[in-house]
Amino acid sequence: MRNHSIALLPGDGIGVDVIQEGKKVLEVASQLDGGFTISFESFDWGCEYYSKHGKMMPDDGLDQLKQFDSIYLGAVGFPGVPDHVSLWGLLLPIRRHFQQYINIRPVKLLRGIPSPLANRTQTDLDFIVIRENNEGEYSNIGGRMYEGTSQDMAIQASVFTRQGVEKVLRYAYQVAQKSGKRKRITAATKSNGITYTMPFWDEYIQKINAEFPDIETSIIHIDALCSFFVTKPDSFDVVVASNLFGDILTDLGAGIIGGMGIAPSANINPEKKFPSMFEPVHGSAPDIAGKGIANPIASIWCASMMLEHLGELDAAHAIMEAMQDVLEERKFVTPDLGGIASTEEVGNAICKRLYESM
Ligand code: ATP
Ligand code: MG
Repeated sequence: MRNHSIALLPGDGIGVDVIQEGKKVLEVASQLDGGFTISFESFDWGCEYYSKHGKMMPDDGLDQLKQFDSIYLGAVGFPGVPDHVSLWGLLLPIRRHFQQYINIRPVKLLRGIPSPLANRTQTDLDFIVIRENNEGEYSNIGGRMYEGTSQDMAIQASVFTRQGVEKVLRYAYQVAQKSGKRKRITAATKSNGITYTMPFWDEYIQKINAEFPDIETSIIHIDALCSFFVTKPDSFDVVVASNLFGDILTDLGAGIIGGMGIAPSANINPEKKFPSMFEPVHGSAPDIAGKGIANPIASIWCASMMLEHLGELDAAHAIMEAMQDVLEERKFVTPDLGGIASTEEVGNAICKRLYESM
């Protein structure tokens, strides 16, 4: 029997609540499927760990994670710990060390969720954003100069490498070729204002596009692209973007499919040389942390993406169906979607539906 070992990193705030529900759903899915088992090991790393130890994870943290098939992460960051400490102390080292250079974020309207965009249906809102995840604008290279003087200034570099750009673009074209319905790539750029890195990015799009002659490509400025997400979401198939642009676009993507409580993401190492990591797009949401009302849908969707990545396609599909059945029923939905159910009640309802369906 296949076994998949999963490292659980619930992290901070609502991360803890939503990962618990996702774990329950994964357990039920594996029991019912019968073809595989899942073993979990939980790590209490995050801001609370930081307050005790002065670091977000132990020094050998990455080594400990290396042996797992996947990492399932809740959220990192909490008031009192500066964002750059929580991000650079845990999340970004994992993404970089394990060469998770692809970030996949589906923008798909689920069955049972009313579209925030007027007159749009599930068929109109169904595409994938692929974000470069390891370099680009989030380089951590730069500095502050002349602080305290009238010349006070800050500089931050963006790093786009041939290897990094080619890898993400080729991956995006492969996705468009394999699973894309419209065989179309939309690439985000801003080469009119950003005059070195973005023309470089555009140049490699043309180059990789030549390897995939059956895929239609549009290169669109990020500002216009934001507006098209709202006015013509049905025109997209696979959208590919740099680290920063992808980050911003996918929160917009989350908005048009019903909010932060729904949007999932996968940090993928396509070669499977290292574990990939699955995490909701949302953060730790300190405003609702500890109240038991966070929406677990984003995390449960992530659990399905994780199983898909691990090759358990039937179980991944069953989770998506059970989740959408529960959403459609509208009996158990959290306050962000207009309901009154708790995080746990939604998780339980999805587990129950899974039992009924498999
Ligand atoms: P971080 O800095 O960790 O990203 P943040 O302050 O940006 O945190 P997010 O967690 O990204 O906050 O989400 C913004 C807001 O969206 C939250 O304050 C919360 O009100 C809402 N929200 C986010 N996730 C959920 C969820 N799973 N369920 C319900 N509401 C959510
Ligand atoms: Mg945030």
